[in-house]
Amino acid sequence: MLVANLNRERIDAFIAERGPEYRCPECEGVVILKKGRKVIDHFAHKPPTDCSWASGETRAHLEAKLLVAKALAGRGLRAEVEFVVNTLPGDRRADVIAWSPNGRQIAFELQHTPIDLNEIESRASSYARAGIVQI
Ligand SMILES: [Zn+2]
Repeated sequence: MLVANLNRERIDAFIAERGPEYRCPECEGVVILKKGRKVIDHFAHKPPTDCSWASGETRAHLEAKLLVAKALAGRGLRAEVEFVVNTLPGDRRADVIAWSPNGRQIAFELQHTPIDLNEIESRASSYARAGIVQI
């Protein structure tokens, strides 16, 4: 995951530094900051864990989230990766969320592996109920 908590404040892995104790925003378990030339800066749960946010994400998915967020920020929009939307069921994180100039939230879900139409519809209607546009 690209985001953790430090002293209950959200922090992105790319600006985090080694040393402090970072916590998972979901389970509050300790997470380890991973940085290096072969990995995208990210946080990983300290094993053992049964946290639903501990599932391995591909490098491609992590990179895609960062690219979309940076592209949006480059256009002057506030954009955050792995943003928690409390009204969504299940894993409540939007891959990327941006705020339009009028304050409207726009969620970007990045999907590379196939998911069925029911899941796509369910996700879209959850966002719609929360008043969030989903792309
Ligand atoms: Zn966790």
